[in-house]
Amino acid sequence: MNSNPIIVLMRRDLRLEDNPALYHARETGNPVLPVFNLDESEDFAPGAATLWWLHYSLADLSASFEKAGTQLILRRGDTAEQIPQIVRETGAQCVYWNRRYAGAHVEADKKLKKRLQDDGIDAQSFNGALLREPWELKTGSGGHFRVFTPMWRALQKAAPARDEPLPGLRKIEGPETYPPSDALDDWSLLPTKPNWAAAFADQWTPGERGAAKKLRAFLDNAAAAYGDDRNRPDLKGTSRLSPHIAFGEISPLQIWMTVKDRIASGDIPEGEAMTFLSEIAWREFSHVLLYHYEHLRTEPLQEKFAKFPWRENEPDLEAWRRGRTGYPIVDAGMRELWETGWMHNRVRMIVGSFLVKHLLLPWQKGEAWFWDTLVDADPANNSASWQWIAGCGADAAPYFRIFNPITQGEKFDPDGAYTRKWVPEVAGLPKKYLQKPWEAPVTILKDAGIDLGHTYPHPIVDHAAARQRALDAFESTKQS
Ligand code: FAD
Repeated sequence: MNSNPIIVLMRRDLRLEDNPALYHARETGNPVLPVFNLDESEDFAPGAATLWWLHYSLADLSASFEKAGTQLILRRGDTAEQIPQIVRETGAQCVYWNRRYAGAHVEADKKLKKRLQDDGIDAQSFNGALLREPWELKTGSGGHFRVFTPMWRALQKAAPARDEPLPGLRKIEGPETYPPSDALDDWSLLPTKPNWAAAFADQWTPGERGAAKKLRAFLDNAAAAYGDDRNRPDLKGTSRLSPHIAFGEISPLQIWMTVKDRIASGDIPEGEAMTFLSEIAWREFSHVLLYHYEHLRTEPLQEKFAKFPWRENEPDLEAWRRGRTGYPIVDAGMRELWETGWMHNRVRMIVGSFLVKHLLLPWQKGEAWFWDTLVDADPANNSASWQWIAGCGADAAPYFRIFNPITQGEKFDPDGAYTRKWVPEVAGLPKKYLQKPWEAPVTILKDAGIDLGHTYPHPIVDHAAARQRALDAFESTKQS
């Protein structure tokens, strides 16, 4: 056995199971040196909520490596400098990693590979994040997909690139000596004054074991009713796996195969299970868009939106961010996000639509707030979903389809439990007025302890007027 270590550069693939770079590194027989480098100069540098997640995920990963027999090295700074530096410090002959798909990341990784190869180092990359690489599935005319449904069909036909997940690594031999590592606590990734993430730990267990537990719980308790319950923010009807998937604590292949096994054993109805897997496919679709459109995060995919007459209005933006718009379902979602780092998908759509249509504020502002506050903030899913909401993306909801926040709240939170939980100021209202407190008679408001404009805001825009303003703006874009 060659005693030079092989470096595995860990990024959003923080797991020991089904990790191709790690698996193939160990297969070489060389001692394995896993490295996580925190590079805040890169595109999509982590937001505040993901730093919270990262802290606990790295702590968990370090413990797993330690148990397996090696040590996770932590470094901070420019990856293009740090990795060659560690190569020099250790005499490593190989560097392996799993691929990333944002344009700037692809470029950075290509440059790193070339630099290492020029120095005679064997640098190799693998697919650890997707069922299929974003260039693999092709339309009939040979291009990449811009519409979801045919891509979903093609993905089912092609099946995942590998037949089964790679085995978990219980034993990984480390080198005899280790290069210096930062201490995780010295990175100060957790918020302190104030600790706005105080409630996060009640909701989440970052790390590979937390991810496996979430998948099991979902499959045991909620998957059988996923088709109906997934739109109900008042129920635990979805998997809440998104931060685990975003950090690569579980791979889409592990999810795919586990779900397929449960279908085969008759545990979960196939229809419900496939609806769930189609959401995993939306993630793949978002990655296809991220890979093929370098500016997915900042520029509309549909050109006609380049001159859309967005407003600039800081007070309205701040009211949206803080959950003080006067529309209870919107405020509930924005407060759930702030308190827990996560928001239900249906409510993400409602608050997103409210921002770009009712308030006519640029979708990029919404993308940026979500990027900073979501624990599942993901370069592909966040950018593609905001373009979808704004009507300017690929296969997007048409701009003229404007969610009514009152009827959406009534339909998807039928008993009002979700709204009452997150907006306690209006909790005393009967169902009839819960999503439209401004229509409640004075006596009902009084009985509910509400003084509109003081204890809870008046709506910051009138629904009908805002809807018309959005339609007019869209019409003007079409004409220009
Ligand atoms: P489940 O319903 O259990 O779905 C399982 C998995 O499928 C999710 O964990 C996720 O990885 C994937 N998935 C589900 N829905 C979508 C979707 N519409 N698009 C792409 N992948 C999907 N998801 C993120 O992971 N990160 C983000 O930054 C993000 N930003 C969003 C922004 C907006 C404006 C909107 C409307 C949606 C966004 N989504 C994002 C997609 C979706 O809301 C979340 O993935 C989902 O709510 C996560 O909850 P879950 O794990 O319980 O989902």
